[in-house]
Amino acid sequence: MENLITLKVRAAEGMCRVCGTIREVYYLNDSSYGERLLLTSDGKYYAYVNLFKDEVYDEVELIIKDIFCVKGKKLSLKESADYLNLTFGVACDDINYQVIDASKNIKSCLNCGSKDLDFEISNNEYVKQVEVPLITHFKWKELEKEEKKKLIAKKLNL
Ligand SMILES: [Zn+2]
Repeated sequence: MENLITLKVRAAEGMCRVCGTIREVYYLNDSSYGERLLLTSDGKYYAYVNLFKDEVYDEVELIIKDIFCVKGKKLSLKESADYLNLTFGVACDDINYQVIDASKNIKSCLNCGSKDLDFEISNNEYVKQVEVPLITHFKWKELEKEEKKKLIAKKLNL
């Protein structure tokens, strides 16, 4: 069973240019420091994480540093952040049988899966209370350190 969190978000509607289905998208307030709404790799489902409180975010960052350090490469802040976004999903449990992809923020149509959504249909943003699943790391926490390293390296194509 997923853990859900109730959030106050800004919401807006987009219309799929392929099938005409309307979907709602959410935004967190800019002041929500460390908090993010991540999307599954298919662009359909949200999950919430507070990166400052997340229990494995720092661990993933360290593993990435480690991997590159062995190769004699020191990462810039930007590279480090990009790689972290790219690989973080590896450490997250699936949401609705989909992996989390923190490197993309492309929403897709809930009906046909098209990523071609039109947000010009209305300019209205509204505040809404929604329930979204929390990011969890049960699978990741079962792994040995070497297995974790391998997963991250694979995701980085190394
Ligand atoms: Zn569609």
